[in-house]
Amino acid sequence: MIVILEPNINKVGETYRRLMDHLGHLPNVQVRIHEEKGAQQVLTEVYLIGDTAALDAQSIANLPGVERVVRISQEYRILGRHRDDSRSTHFDYNGVTFSQDNLHIFAGLCAVSSREHVEAMLKALQQHGQVCTRMGAYKPRTNPYAFQGFGKDCLPYVFELAGKYGIKVIAMEILSEGHFQEIAEALHRCGSPTGVMLQIGTRNTQNFELLKVCGRQREFPVLLKRGFGITLEESLNAAEYLASEGNRKVIFALRGMKTNMGDPHRNFVDFAHVPTVKRLTRMPVCIDPSHSVGTRAQSPDGLLEIMHVTAQGIIAGANMILVDFHPEPGKALVDGPQALTLKELPYFIEDVMVTRAAYEKRVSNARQFQERPL
Ligand code: PEP
Ligand code: MN
Repeated sequence: MIVILEPNINKVGETYRRLMDHLGHLPNVQVRIHEEKGAQQVLTEVYLIGDTAALDAQSIANLPGVERVVRISQEYRILGRHRDDSRSTHFDYNGVTFSQDNLHIFAGLCAVSSREHVEAMLKALQQHGQVCTRMGAYKPRTNPYAFQGFGKDCLPYVFELAGKYGIKVIAMEILSEGHFQEIAEALHRCGSPTGVMLQIGTRNTQNFELLKVCGRQREFPVLLKRGFGITLEESLNAAEYLASEGNRKVIFALRGMKTNMGDPHRNFVDFAHVPTVKRLTRMPVCIDPSHSVGTRAQSPDGLLEIMHVTAQGIIAGANMILVDFHPEPGKALVDGPQALTLKELPYFIEDVMVTRAAYEKRVSNARQFQERPL
């Protein structure tokens, strides 16, 4: 059960003390407090864990200091969307709002290949009104002898250039706690000219210790990719690990499943699950068309298959697109064959906008239909 307190409740006041005293004495129930500091107000949620079935939600809702009570199902306690649960689906980070109701494009380099490439990419993004990007410094490679990313060496110029070109959020994969520390240190050392969204890749979806590390820190939001060989439920539980440790600024990414059923795509595209994840949880949902499709194959209608699946994710309500671009795909150090070019950037953005407008029209049609008298 979640007890949502009145916003900005005074933590040293009598109402709060009495309420916590009451909740703390409920038999066989543990109390866990979560505080979320927004721009205007501080929201406090009290989680009652344990023997809560016998509790009367209404009488708890009537206690002084309580705004409302949500009964939670066993699944995804914090990130889940429970019955009568009107908690918001959004969070703000570095001036950017992420929610189940909007859409951001994170176009950028799968792996940083040179300062010049980073600059060309970021400059193009600024020219086309974009404030988010992806930049890989640490790469999880199948082959131990393959390029592993420039790591911390590239961070100073990536962050500096991001600031120069007005980039507010960079999605950047980490593989270990050490990577997280290197990113935080490098970012603070250069005065935080940009923000970072920590990305946990598909190979680490169930790396519970890494999830705990990312969950315990509240500075950076986390982009968690679905595990490519596990069920959706297992991946959503992995996301819940982050929230259970305290960080609920989590975005869930669909990036395709590993099965030969998806051939000739690199992975079997699973964007049909966009609305499903939005129904089961309050997380914004990201799609990664590049790692799903894995090639620049073009269909006879002239559209790249990457663009087709991007549209499939957007038309289903996706909130974020993580997509590989490169100024010179032939010189990319990782995943060049699936990268789109800078020339294609405005055309890609235009295609995204066309499809998003169609999605918004579908939503408005659905609302009108539901509001029609029987
Ligand atoms: C990536 O986004 O660069 C990446 C390695 O993705 P995934 O974890 O989905 O394979
Ligand atoms: Mn890649």
